[in-house]
Amino acid sequence: MSGAGGTSARRVALLVAGVLGAALVVVLVTVPPWTLLPEPPGGRTPVDPSSVLPPDLLARAEAFARALRPASLTSLLLGLVVSAVLGLTPLGARLVRAVARPLGGGRVAQVLLGTAAVVVLGRLATLPVSAYAEVVRHRYGISTRSWGLWLRDVAVSTAISAVLTALALAAFLWLVRRAPRTWWAWAAAVAAGFVVVGSFLYPVVIEPAFNRFESLPPSALRSELLDLAEENGTPVQDVLVSDASRRTTALNAYVSGFGSTRRIVLYDTTLEQLSDAEVESIVAHELGHVVHGDVLTGTLVGALGAAAAVALSGWLLSWTPLLRRAGAQSPADPAVVPLVLLLLSVGGLLSTPVQNLVSRQVEARADLRALDLTGDAGAFTAMQRELAATNLNDPDPPAAWQWFFGSHPTGAQRIAFAEDWQRLEDAG
Ligand SMILES: [Zn+2]
Repeated sequence: MSGAGGTSARRVALLVAGVLGAALVVVLVTVPPWTLLPEPPGGRTPVDPSSVLPPDLLARAEAFARALRPASLTSLLLGLVVSAVLGLTPLGARLVRAVARPLGGGRVAQVLLGTAAVVVLGRLATLPVSAYAEVVRHRYGISTRSWGLWLRDVAVSTAISAVLTALALAAFLWLVRRAPRTWWAWAAAVAAGFVVVGSFLYPVVIEPAFNRFESLPPSALRSELLDLAEENGTPVQDVLVSDASRRTTALNAYVSGFGSTRRIVLYDTTLEQLSDAEVESIVAHELGHVVHGDVLTGTLVGALGAAAAVALSGWLLSWTPLLRRAGAQSPADPAVVPLVLLLLSVGGLLSTPVQNLVSRQVEARADLRALDLTGDAGAFTAMQRELAATNLNDPDPPAAWQWFFGSHPTGAQRIAFAEDWQRLEDAG
């Protein structure tokens, strides 16, 4: 890439990244419902945590969260450090060349095996912390996984992520080579496409890799749930029960698939622990996501974000000092793989609080739908208490933690929301 042309191509990449980023901000500001229910005078304050859980359970949930938080942070930092060491020193480039040597050391082998090696190394570095977190989950009775199943889960998810990342990077480097000036524009379009395809494939490929599903036999609950879906304007094909209890005591339900393949999935744990009214409340929340097209919106936001990130990487990866640091000659050099993976993890980290800010709004909207659909704030709050008790969710985590990691409003906030809904309902 020669001087002037290269510099202007870099500027265009930065400009496009800026435009896509600005579009993303506009979508993020306009799409979520920032106000759902008129707030009571003085704002909505979360209910007191002691009204969510009885004292012994509250203490247990808080102790559980206190034991897990350092593990989550350590794992995050450790992953980032390993990524930075490999991406910003020639060590990563050396690793990429070394793992490909037994297969002749060709470009493709370097990209595929190099990517897999970096992914596996990152996973191995955080494995002790993950094992500690699993010990904590066992101690608090949340995890029911045997260590054999835990290892299998780790191996399967690492393998899936290594293979998918390796294929994506192989496509990426092929594009860089084919279009040395404009690769980032093609790659941005491909990345956006990957996000869309991935979100459609997820329920078909990933879900069955971890769980087995059976149809819920005919019952009053089954008919209620099918009716609820009809009433929501989003009929479902089936109600399935997943064998989640093989791994966890946690409660959950979700709706997956599109159109004629849409189905409600209940964790078997949910079915065992919750009353029919509470199960309906959970499912009504999930149907709220469906009726508002939250998966589609999430997919589009993800696609836009991925395209912006790739355009930005077009600017960063043609910055010679950064390439030198990673021991790469050009963006087409397979030695660039660890640097690309570092950019991915930094991007993921920076976007987490933004994604969660939007997610919390979208979750609150689904709560509102659940309340409107079932008309039963009592079952909703009972279900929230049951969730907090069984999943040992801290109903009132530290504000900074909730801001960064909280994908849902806290239990204390969700119950306060339902109480407001009831007050408005009573006022007519
Ligand atoms: Zn939800």
